[in-house]
Amino acid sequence: MTSRQINPPPRLLMGPGPINADPRVLRAMSAQLVGQYDPAMTGYMNEVMELYRGVFKTSNEATFLVDGTSRAGIEAALISLIEPGAKVLVPIFGRFGHLLKEIAVRAGAEVAVREKTWGQVFTPEEIEQAIVEERPALLALVQGDTSTTMNQPLAGIGEICQRHDVLFYTDVTASLAGNEFSADAWNVDAVTAGLQKCLGGPSGSAPITLSERAVEAIRSRRHVEAGIADGTEGRGTRIASNYFDLAMIMDYWGPQRLNHHTEATSMLYGARECARLLLQEGVDDAVARHELHGRAMLAGVQGLGLQVFGDIAHKMNNVVAVEIPAGIDGDAARTAMLQDYGIEIGTSFGPLHGKVWRIGTMGYNARKDAVMLTLAALEQVLRAGGAEVRPGGGAGAAAEIYQAQPDRGQPGEHDQSLQSTHPLQSRGVSP
Ligand SMILES: *Cc1c(COP(=O)(O)O)cnc(C)c1O
Repeated sequence: MTSRQINPPPRLLMGPGPINADPRVLRAMSAQLVGQYDPAMTGYMNEVMELYRGVFKTSNEATFLVDGTSRAGIEAALISLIEPGAKVLVPIFGRFGHLLKEIAVRAGAEVAVREKTWGQVFTPEEIEQAIVEERPALLALVQGDTSTTMNQPLAGIGEICQRHDVLFYTDVTASLAGNEFSADAWNVDAVTAGLQKCLGGPSGSAPITLSERAVEAIRSRRHVEAGIADGTEGRGTRIASNYFDLAMIMDYWGPQRLNHHTEATSMLYGARECARLLLQEGVDDAVARHELHGRAMLAGVQGLGLQVFGDIAHKMNNVVAVEIPAGIDGDAARTAMLQDYGIEIGTSFGPLHGKVWRIGTMGYNARKDAVMLTLAALEQVLRAGGAEVRPGGGAGAAAEIYQAQPDRGQPGEHDQSLQSTHPLQSRGVSP
Protein backbone atom coordinates (compact mmCIF):
# COMPACT_ATOMS: atom_id res chain seq x y z
CA MET A 1 0.00 0.00 0.00
CA THR A 2 1.27 3.46 -0.80
CA SER A 3 -0.03 6.34 1.18
CA ARG A 4 0.33 9.99 0.38
CA GLN A 5 1.89 12.64 2.56
CA ILE A 6 -0.50 13.72 5.26
CA ASN A 7 -2.72 16.61 4.23
CA PRO A 8 -5.60 17.16 6.68
CA PRO A 9 -8.69 19.04 5.48
CA PRO A 10 -8.94 22.69 6.54
CA ARG A 11 -11.04 22.84 9.70
CA LEU A 12 -12.02 25.50 12.17
CA LEU A 13 -12.16 23.65 15.50
CA MET A 14 -14.80 25.39 17.65
CA GLY A 15 -15.54 22.51 20.03
CA PRO A 16 -14.40 22.09 23.66
CA GLY A 17 -10.88 21.11 22.54
CA PRO A 18 -8.67 20.31 20.79
CA ILE A 19 -8.65 23.58 18.86
CA ASN A 20 -6.46 24.69 15.94
CA ALA A 21 -2.90 25.09 17.10
CA ASP A 22 -1.29 28.49 16.67
CA PRO A 23 0.84 28.20 13.49
CA ARG A 24 3.83 29.53 15.42
CA VAL A 25 3.53 26.56 17.80
CA LEU A 26 3.45 24.15 14.85
CA ARG A 27 6.52 25.84 13.38
CA ALA A 28 8.38 25.57 16.68
CA MET A 29 7.55 21.86 16.76
CA SER A 30 9.13 21.28 13.37
CA ALA A 31 12.56 22.41 14.61
CA GLN A 32 15.35 19.82 14.52
CA LEU A 33 16.13 17.64 17.55
CA VAL A 34 19.15 17.98 19.82
CA GLY A 35 20.56 15.40 22.21
CA GLN A 36 18.95 14.88 25.57
CA TYR A 37 21.87 16.35 27.54
CA ASP A 38 22.99 18.87 24.95
CA PRO A 39 23.43 22.19 26.78
CA ALA A 40 20.94 23.65 24.27
CA MET A 41 18.34 21.08 25.37
CA THR A 42 18.89 21.47 29.12
CA GLY A 43 18.77 25.22 28.48
CA TYR A 44 15.35 24.83 26.83
CA MET A 45 14.17 22.72 29.76
CA ASN A 46 15.18 25.46 32.21
CA GLU A 47 13.43 28.05 30.05
CA VAL A 48 10.27 25.94 29.99
CA MET A 49 10.31 25.77 33.79
CA GLU A 50 10.63 29.54 34.06
CA LEU A 51 7.98 30.22 31.38
CA TYR A 52 5.42 27.97 33.06
CA ARG A 53 6.05 29.66 36.42
CA GLY A 54 4.69 32.73 34.64
CA VAL A 55 1.75 30.84 33.16
CA PHE A 56 0.74 29.26 36.50
CA LYS A 57 1.61 32.46 38.44
CA THR A 58 3.89 30.70 40.86
CA SER A 59 7.42 30.78 42.19
CA ASN A 60 7.43 26.98 42.64
CA GLU A 61 10.83 25.55 41.73
CA ALA A 62 9.09 22.28 40.74
CA THR A 63 7.41 23.50 37.54
CA PHE A 64 7.97 21.29 34.48
CA LEU A 65 6.30 19.06 31.87
CA VAL A 66 4.93 15.54 32.14
CA ASP A 67 5.16 13.84 28.73
CA GLY A 68 1.72 12.72 27.63
CA THR A 69 -1.73 14.28 27.30
CA SER A 70 -3.36 16.18 30.15
CA ARG A 71 -4.48 12.89 31.66
CA ALA A 72 -0.80 11.94 32.08
CA GLY A 73 -0.35 15.02 34.26
CA ILE A 74 -3.42 14.14 36.32
CA GLU A 75 -2.29 10.57 36.77
CA ALA A 76 1.29 11.55 37.64
CA ALA A 77 0.07 14.02 40.26
CA LEU A 78 -2.43 11.68 41.86
CA ILE A 79 -0.35 8.50 41.84
CA SER A 80 2.64 10.40 43.25
CA LEU A 81 0.69 12.29 45.93
CA ILE A 82 -1.66 9.53 47.12
CA GLU A 83 -0.25 6.96 49.53
CA PRO A 84 -2.24 3.72 49.23
CA GLY A 85 -5.00 3.76 51.85
CA ALA A 86 -5.01 7.55 52.19
CA LYS A 87 -8.28 9.41 52.19
CA VAL A 88 -8.98 11.63 49.15
CA LEU A 89 -11.93 13.99 48.77
CA VAL A 90 -13.25 14.60 45.24
CA PRO A 91 -16.04 17.15 44.80
CA ILE A 92 -17.62 16.18 41.44
CA PHE A 93 -19.48 18.64 39.20
CA GLY A 94 -18.89 17.00 35.80
CA ARG A 95 -17.17 14.28 33.86
CA PHE A 96 -13.62 15.17 34.86
CA GLY A 97 -14.47 14.93 38.56
CA HIS A 98 -15.43 11.32 37.87
CA LEU A 99 -12.04 10.88 36.17
CA LEU A 100 -10.20 12.22 39.24
CA LYS A 101 -12.17 9.81 41.41
CA GLU A 102 -11.37 6.86 39.14
CA ILE A 103 -7.65 7.62 39.08
CA ALA A 104 -7.58 8.16 42.87
CA VAL A 105 -9.27 4.76 43.36
CA ARG A 106 -6.68 3.12 41.10
CA ALA A 107 -3.94 4.81 43.14
CA GLY A 108 -5.30 2.94 46.17
CA ALA A 109 -7.04 5.86 47.87
CA GLU A 110 -10.08 5.63 50.05
CA VAL A 111 -12.18 8.12 48.04
CA ALA A 112 -14.99 10.26 49.42
CA VAL A 113 -17.06 12.26 46.96
CA ARG A 114 -19.58 15.07 47.00
CA GLU A 115 -21.67 15.61 43.87
CA LYS A 116 -23.37 18.62 42.30
CA THR A 117 -26.07 18.53 39.67
CA TRP A 118 -24.44 19.20 36.28
CA GLY A 119 -24.41 22.93 35.55
CA GLN A 120 -23.67 23.97 39.16
CA VAL A 121 -20.48 24.55 41.21
CA PHE A 122 -19.53 24.17 44.91
CA THR A 123 -19.27 26.98 47.43
CA PRO A 124 -16.12 27.15 49.59
CA GLU A 125 -18.36 26.50 52.62
CA GLU A 126 -19.61 23.24 51.11
CA ILE A 127 -16.04 22.14 50.46
CA GLU A 128 -14.90 23.08 53.97
CA GLN A 129 -17.80 21.15 55.48
CA ALA A 130 -16.92 18.06 53.42
CA ILE A 131 -13.28 18.39 54.55
CA VAL A 132 -14.36 18.58 58.20
CA GLU A 133 -16.57 15.51 57.75
CA GLU A 134 -14.09 13.39 55.77
CA ARG A 135 -10.66 14.53 57.07
CA PRO A 136 -8.91 13.74 53.78
CA ALA A 137 -5.14 13.90 53.12
CA LEU A 138 -5.82 15.36 49.67
CA LEU A 139 -8.53 17.42 47.99
CA ALA A 140 -8.74 16.81 44.22
CA LEU A 141 -10.87 19.36 42.40
CA VAL A 142 -11.31 20.33 38.74
CA GLN A 143 -11.28 24.06 37.93
CA GLY A 144 -12.99 24.20 34.52
CA ASP A 145 -14.97 21.12 33.52
CA THR A 146 -15.66 21.20 29.78
CA SER A 147 -18.39 18.56 30.12
CA THR A 148 -20.66 21.09 31.85
CA THR A 149 -18.74 24.33 30.94
CA MET A 150 -18.67 25.29 34.64
CA ASN A 151 -15.73 27.11 36.24
CA GLN A 152 -15.35 26.11 39.89
CA PRO A 153 -14.25 29.14 41.98
CA LEU A 154 -10.95 28.23 43.66
CA ALA A 155 -10.13 31.40 45.61
CA GLY A 156 -10.20 30.64 49.34
CA ILE A 157 -10.12 26.86 48.95
CA GLY A 158 -6.36 26.62 49.31
CA GLU A 159 -6.54 28.49 52.61
CA ILE A 160 -9.22 26.12 53.86
CA CYS A 161 -6.98 23.20 52.90
CA GLN A 162 -3.97 24.67 54.71
CA ARG A 163 -6.06 25.26 57.82
CA HIS A 164 -7.08 21.59 57.85
CA ASP A 165 -3.67 20.27 56.75
CA VAL A 166 -4.99 18.91 53.44
CA LEU A 167 -3.01 18.92 50.18
CA PHE A 168 -4.86 20.68 47.35
CA TYR A 169 -4.65 19.39 43.77
CA THR A 170 -6.48 20.95 40.82
CA ASP A 171 -6.85 20.13 37.10
CA VAL A 172 -6.81 23.39 35.11
CA THR A 173 -6.48 21.80 31.65
CA ALA A 174 -9.62 23.40 30.24
CA SER A 175 -9.47 26.72 32.06
CA LEU A 176 -5.81 27.85 32.22
CA ALA A 177 -5.05 30.99 30.15
CA GLY A 178 -8.75 31.56 29.45
CA ASN A 179 -9.91 32.17 33.02
CA GLU A 180 -8.23 33.66 36.07
CA PHE A 181 -5.83 31.32 37.85
CA SER A 182 -3.02 31.86 40.33
CA ALA A 183 -1.28 28.88 41.92
CA ASP A 184 0.50 30.92 44.60
CA ALA A 185 -2.20 33.47 45.47
CA TRP A 186 -4.70 30.63 45.80
CA ASN A 187 -2.35 28.32 47.76
CA VAL A 188 -2.67 25.37 45.40
CA ASP A 189 -0.21 22.51 46.05
CA ALA A 190 -0.37 20.66 42.74
CA VAL A 191 -1.69 21.85 39.39
CA THR A 192 -1.76 20.10 36.03
CA ALA A 193 -2.76 21.29 32.57
CA GLY A 194 -2.54 20.51 28.85
CA LEU A 195 -1.87 22.51 25.71
CA GLN A 196 -4.93 21.84 23.55
CA LYS A 197 -7.41 24.21 25.17
CA CYS A 198 -6.67 27.89 25.84
CA LEU A 199 -2.90 27.51 25.40
CA GLY A 200 -3.25 27.07 21.64
CA GLY A 201 -1.15 23.93 21.13
CA PRO A 202 -1.71 20.27 20.32
CA SER A 203 -2.37 17.69 23.03
CA GLY A 204 0.62 15.67 24.18
CA SER A 205 2.33 17.66 26.93
CA ALA A 206 1.12 18.25 30.48
CA PRO A 207 2.59 21.27 32.32
CA ILE A 208 2.65 20.77 36.10
CA THR A 209 3.60 22.82 39.15
CA LEU A 210 4.12 21.59 42.73
CA SER A 211 4.38 23.53 45.99
CA GLU A 212 7.07 22.87 48.59
CA ARG A 213 4.52 20.85 50.57
CA ALA A 214 3.69 18.69 47.58
CA VAL A 215 7.37 18.21 46.70
CA GLU A 216 8.09 17.10 50.27
CA ALA A 217 5.22 14.58 50.20
CA ILE A 218 6.46 13.18 46.88
CA ARG A 219 10.14 13.09 47.81
CA SER A 220 9.38 11.07 50.93
CA ARG A 221 8.23 8.32 48.55
CA ARG A 222 11.49 8.36 46.60
CA HIS A 223 13.33 5.04 46.65
CA VAL A 224 16.74 5.26 45.05
CA GLU A 225 19.93 3.26 44.77
CA ALA A 226 22.75 3.92 47.20
CA GLY A 227 25.03 6.64 45.96
CA ILE A 228 22.31 9.10 45.06
CA ALA A 229 20.43 8.80 48.32
CA ASP A 230 20.25 12.05 50.26
CA GLY A 231 18.43 11.00 53.42
CA THR A 232 15.01 12.31 52.46
CA GLU A 233 13.97 9.18 50.64
CA GLY A 234 12.22 5.98 51.52
CA ARG A 235 9.88 7.10 54.31
CA GLY A 236 6.70 6.54 52.29
CA THR A 237 5.39 3.76 50.08
CA ARG A 238 7.18 3.65 46.74
CA ILE A 239 5.17 5.30 43.92
CA ALA A 240 3.43 2.52 41.98
CA SER A 241 4.29 3.85 38.49
CA ASN A 242 7.74 4.31 37.02
CA TYR A 243 6.70 6.57 34.11
CA PHE A 244 4.57 8.80 36.35
CA ASP A 245 6.93 8.80 39.36
CA LEU A 246 7.18 12.55 39.93
CA ALA A 247 10.08 12.07 42.34
CA MET A 248 12.12 10.57 39.49
CA ILE A 249 10.82 13.10 36.96
CA MET A 250 11.88 15.94 39.29
CA ASP A 251 15.36 14.41 39.53
CA TYR A 252 15.46 14.46 35.74
CA TRP A 253 14.34 18.12 35.42
CA GLY A 254 16.36 19.24 38.43
CA PRO A 255 20.10 19.94 38.64
CA GLN A 256 20.83 16.21 39.17
CA ARG A 257 19.57 15.46 35.62
CA LEU A 258 19.13 11.79 36.49
CA ASN A 259 18.11 9.88 33.40
CA HIS A 260 14.46 8.87 33.38
CA HIS A 261 12.51 8.94 30.08
CA THR A 262 13.73 10.57 26.85
CA GLU A 263 12.14 13.99 26.95
CA ALA A 264 9.59 14.39 24.12
CA THR A 265 11.66 17.09 22.46
CA SER A 266 9.19 18.24 19.78
CA MET A 267 6.40 18.50 22.35
CA LEU A 268 8.72 20.50 24.60
CA TYR A 269 9.39 22.92 21.72
CA GLY A 270 5.60 23.25 21.30
CA ALA A 271 4.92 23.71 25.01
CA ARG A 272 7.69 26.31 25.21
CA GLU A 273 6.18 28.27 22.30
CA CYS A 274 2.65 28.13 23.81
CA ALA A 275 3.94 29.65 27.05
CA ARG A 276 6.19 32.15 25.28
CA LEU A 277 3.28 33.45 23.18
CA LEU A 278 0.98 33.58 26.18
CA LEU A 279 3.44 35.59 28.28
CA GLN A 280 4.15 37.86 25.31
CA GLU A 281 0.41 38.61 25.08
CA GLY A 282 0.16 38.77 28.89
CA VAL A 283 -1.78 36.15 30.85
CA ASP A 284 -4.35 38.69 32.05
CA ASP A 285 -4.80 40.04 28.52
CA ALA A 286 -5.31 36.51 27.21
CA VAL A 287 -7.97 35.92 29.87
CA ALA A 288 -9.64 39.21 28.88
CA ARG A 289 -9.55 38.13 25.21
CA HIS A 290 -11.27 34.83 26.10
CA GLU A 291 -13.82 36.75 28.16
CA LEU A 292 -14.64 39.05 25.22
CA HIS A 293 -14.95 36.37 22.54
CA GLY A 294 -16.78 34.01 24.92
CA ARG A 295 -19.26 36.77 25.71
CA ALA A 296 -19.73 37.48 22.00
CA MET A 297 -20.39 33.79 21.30
CA LEU A 298 -22.86 33.63 24.22
CA ALA A 299 -24.71 36.72 22.95
CA GLY A 300 -24.66 35.24 19.45
CA VAL A 301 -26.26 31.91 20.30
CA GLN A 302 -28.81 33.72 22.46
CA GLY A 303 -29.40 36.10 19.54
CA LEU A 304 -30.27 33.06 17.44
CA GLY A 305 -32.97 32.30 20.00
CA LEU A 306 -31.11 29.33 21.54
CA GLN A 307 -31.05 28.50 25.26
CA VAL A 308 -27.80 28.09 27.17
CA PHE A 309 -27.27 25.28 29.69
CA GLY A 310 -26.05 25.75 33.28
CA ASP A 311 -25.36 28.57 35.71
CA ILE A 312 -24.10 31.27 33.31
CA ALA A 313 -22.58 33.28 36.17
CA HIS A 314 -20.10 30.40 36.66
CA LYS A 315 -19.55 29.52 33.00
CA MET A 316 -15.96 29.27 31.75
CA ASN A 317 -15.07 32.12 29.37
CA ASN A 318 -13.98 29.70 26.68
CA VAL A 319 -16.90 27.32 26.15
CA VAL A 320 -20.68 27.47 26.05
CA ALA A 321 -23.22 24.62 26.16
CA VAL A 322 -26.05 25.38 23.76
CA GLU A 323 -29.35 23.54 24.06
CA ILE A 324 -30.30 21.76 20.85
CA PRO A 325 -33.67 23.21 19.78
CA ALA A 326 -36.72 20.92 19.55
CA GLY A 327 -37.05 19.34 16.11
CA ILE A 328 -33.33 19.63 15.28
CA ASP A 329 -31.20 16.48 15.06
CA GLY A 330 -28.08 17.48 17.00
CA ASP A 331 -25.71 15.03 15.30
CA ALA A 332 -27.00 15.85 11.80
CA ALA A 333 -26.48 19.55 12.50
CA ARG A 334 -22.89 18.93 13.69
CA THR A 335 -22.24 16.91 10.53
CA ALA A 336 -23.63 19.74 8.38
CA MET A 337 -21.42 22.28 10.19
CA LEU A 338 -18.39 20.12 9.40
CA GLN A 339 -19.23 19.07 5.85
CA ASP A 340 -20.71 22.30 4.55
CA TYR A 341 -18.62 24.85 6.47
CA GLY A 342 -15.52 23.00 7.73
CA ILE A 343 -16.42 23.97 11.31
CA GLU A 344 -16.33 21.48 14.19
CA ILE A 345 -18.54 22.02 17.23
CA GLY A 346 -18.74 19.61 20.16
CA THR A 347 -21.17 16.94 21.20
CA SER A 348 -21.62 16.15 24.91
CA PHE A 349 -21.45 13.38 27.48
CA GLY A 350 -23.52 11.67 30.15
CA PRO A 351 -26.71 13.44 31.20
CA LEU A 352 -26.20 16.11 28.52
CA HIS A 353 -25.75 13.73 25.59
CA GLY A 354 -28.13 14.62 22.76
CA LYS A 355 -29.26 17.74 24.67
CA VAL A 356 -26.51 20.29 24.09
CA TRP A 357 -23.74 21.22 21.70
CA ARG A 358 -20.58 22.62 23.21
CA ILE A 359 -19.04 25.54 21.35
CA GLY A 360 -15.57 26.72 22.28
CA THR A 361 -13.79 30.04 21.75
CA MET A 362 -10.35 29.18 23.00
CA GLY A 363 -6.66 29.63 22.43
CA TYR A 364 -5.84 30.49 18.82
CA ASN A 365 -9.57 30.39 17.98
CA ALA A 366 -10.63 33.01 20.54
CA ARG A 367 -10.91 35.48 17.66
CA LYS A 368 -13.62 37.68 16.19
CA ASP A 369 -13.53 36.13 12.71
CA ALA A 370 -13.86 32.61 14.15
CA VAL A 371 -16.83 33.65 16.31
CA MET A 372 -18.66 35.45 13.47
CA LEU A 373 -18.07 32.63 10.99
CA THR A 374 -19.34 29.99 13.41
CA LEU A 375 -22.49 31.97 14.21
CA ALA A 376 -23.24 32.62 10.53
CA ALA A 377 -22.79 28.94 9.65
CA LEU A 378 -24.86 27.79 12.63
CA GLU A 379 -27.71 30.05 11.54
CA GLN A 380 -27.76 28.48 8.07
CA VAL A 381 -27.61 24.94 9.47
CA LEU A 382 -30.51 25.67 11.83
CA ARG A 383 -32.59 27.17 9.02
CA ALA A 384 -31.87 24.21 6.75
CA GLY A 385 -33.04 21.96 9.62
CA GLY A 386 -36.34 23.84 9.82
CA ALA A 387 -35.68 25.90 12.97
CA GLU A 388 -37.03 29.43 13.18
CA VAL A 389 -34.17 31.84 13.65
CA ARG A 390 -33.97 35.59 13.29
CA PRO A 391 -31.92 36.28 10.12
CA GLY A 392 -28.55 37.65 11.20
CA GLY A 393 -29.63 37.46 14.86
CA GLY A 394 -26.53 35.58 15.97
CA ALA A 395 -23.78 37.45 14.19
CA GLY A 396 -25.67 40.72 14.85
CA ALA A 397 -25.73 40.18 18.61
CA ALA A 398 -22.04 39.26 18.62
CA ALA A 399 -21.20 42.34 16.53
CA GLU A 400 -22.92 44.52 19.13
CA ILE A 401 -20.65 43.10 21.83
CA TYR A 402 -17.60 43.88 19.72
CA GLN A 403 -18.81 47.40 18.98
CA ALA A 404 -19.43 48.14 22.66
CA GLN A 405 -15.99 46.87 23.67
CA PRO A 406 -12.63 48.18 22.54
CA ASP A 407 -11.14 45.19 20.70
CA ARG A 408 -8.89 43.14 22.91
CA GLY A 409 -6.92 42.12 19.87
CA GLN A 410 -6.25 38.83 18.27
CA PRO A 411 -3.75 36.15 19.18
CA GLY A 412 -0.75 37.00 17.06
CA GLU A 413 -2.27 40.06 15.50
CA HIS A 414 1.04 41.02 13.93
CA ASP A 415 1.82 37.57 12.63
CA GLN A 416 1.51 37.05 8.90
CA SER A 417 0.88 33.34 9.33
CA LEU A 418 -2.49 34.10 10.92
CA GLN A 419 -3.73 35.36 7.58
CA SER A 420 -2.36 32.50 5.54
CA THR A 421 -4.18 29.93 7.67
CA HIS A 422 -7.52 31.69 7.77
CA PRO A 423 -10.08 28.92 7.17
CA LEU A 424 -11.80 30.74 4.31
CA GLN A 425 -8.61 31.60 2.50
CA SER A 426 -7.20 28.11 2.69
CA ARG A 427 -10.48 26.56 1.47
CA GLY A 428 -10.52 25.17 -2.05
CA VAL A 429 -6.75 25.10 -2.43
CA SER A 430 -5.82 21.64 -3.68
CA PRO A 431 -2.10 21.11 -3.50
C1 LIG B 1 -10.04 18.48 28.07
C2 LIG B 1 -9.74 18.14 29.47
C3 LIG B 1 -8.77 17.16 29.78
C4 LIG B 1 -8.11 16.47 28.63
O1 LIG B 1 -7.30 15.39 28.95
P1 LIG B 1 -6.47 14.74 27.77
O2 LIG B 1 -5.74 13.61 28.38
O3 LIG B 1 -5.55 15.77 27.22
O4 LIG B 1 -7.46 14.29 26.74
C5 LIG B 1 -8.48 16.93 31.10
N1 LIG B 1 -9.12 17.60 32.09
C6 LIG B 1 -10.08 18.51 31.83
C7 LIG B 1 -10.76 19.24 32.93
C8 LIG B 1 -10.42 18.80 30.50
O5 LIG B 1 -11.36 19.69 30.21
